[in-house]
Amino acid sequence: MKKQLLVILLFLTFIHCYSQDTTNQYKINYYNQKVVKYLDREKMLSNYYKIDKEGIKIYATPAHKLNDSVEFKIKWEQLNEFNACIREGKNAAYFSSRKHGSIQSSAIKGDKTANYNHLKPLSGLKIAIDPGHMAGDFETGKLEMKSLNFKKDSINGLPDSIQIAEGMLTYATAILLKEKLEADGATVFLTRQKNGYTAFGKTFDDWLKDDYKNKVEELHKSGKLSTDKKNLMLSSKFTKRNKFLFFKDIELAKRADIINAFNPDFTVIIHFNVDETNTGWKAPGNKNYNMTFIGGAFMPGDLSSQEKRFEFLRMIATKDIEESILLSGASTEKFESILKVKTAGPTDAKYLREGCLTTEKKGVYCRNLQLTRYIHGPLVYGETLYQDNINECKALNKESDKTKNERIKEVAEAYYSGIKAYLNQGQ
Ligand SMILES: [Zn+2]
Repeated sequence: MKKQLLVILLFLTFIHCYSQDTTNQYKINYYNQKVVKYLDREKMLSNYYKIDKEGIKIYATPAHKLNDSVEFKIKWEQLNEFNACIREGKNAAYFSSRKHGSIQSSAIKGDKTANYNHLKPLSGLKIAIDPGHMAGDFETGKLEMKSLNFKKDSINGLPDSIQIAEGMLTYATAILLKEKLEADGATVFLTRQKNGYTAFGKTFDDWLKDDYKNKVEELHKSGKLSTDKKNLMLSSKFTKRNKFLFFKDIELAKRADIINAFNPDFTVIIHFNVDETNTGWKAPGNKNYNMTFIGGAFMPGDLSSQEKRFEFLRMIATKDIEESILLSGASTEKFESILKVKTAGPTDAKYLREGCLTTEKKGVYCRNLQLTRYIHGPLVYGETLYQDNINECKALNKESDKTKNERIKEVAEAYYSGIKAYLNQGQ
């Protein structure tokens, strides 16, 4: 009898270990495949990470991996805890219950169940919108090199001259989308508070007046700028365009910071595209595509700082990539059906061929942009239509107040429908 019991006990122990092993084996395969598929663009980053029976490990350099000296390590049993730390638990639980259609009080903390309102189906949801670039006028668009200026050319079908600044289009789209989402009860945060404003709550010209000098001196003091560089930057030799290029990265970092501080359920980044092969954008072209970007596709050299390696780890260990594919996939489908513009395939632009990884959703590409890298949580980085397309530029040129432009209204509607389709998946 005793012997029998021992055999049963041994058998149970074996079953327990075996199931533990198979679960971990499943995770090891899943996360290793995920890195290869979405994160490691050139298949050259294997010396920076290891995913094995213990968990996920990140190394600062290949030499550190050889010595097994880890920089970050998440054991399998810590994976949920890590995810909860990255995304505040309350929002994540709420979001997953809402997305799958069952409003379970156990999943939603506080009074969110009591507040559920069928007339306001997005109440309780926090959405961040980043209207790309900053121009509120054509001159600033020129400074950013995010503008089009086509001369009137009746022979080639341009009855009027065209002046478009992308920052004005993205801001108007964001305002229209915000109105739609708020009407459904969502709480919406915009990184730019006014047309022409930057993420610093002021225009670029005001930032130059108020903050430029201090920022240069601050970076010099902290050792990030040499004295020569500082002196050059404060001299008249440093052009406004030079100052803008310095400002651009600082401002993108600010956008990611304020979005992460808002802790949204997801983020929508709005851009309008151009045909990169239409050199100099001196005349309209015929190409027109939509596409969306999400995080991933790290290149060799993209793991040079601890901050970047942390984001690499976050993308491996959270569902941010998986959810971004769903959000972006739903958006891309709506871009095509509502705007009547084709979705870009993986060979339709140089940066898609050379800097991106494809996903299982048509038109959704992993790309390691500053915002797709640093913004936490699911996101869609939309690049709707080509502004330099002959028909689009004529449509976008109408109305000085772009929120009244019919084409911009359609773009806002396409984002809105994409978001709704994403939220209704699985219901
Ligand atoms: Zn853009």
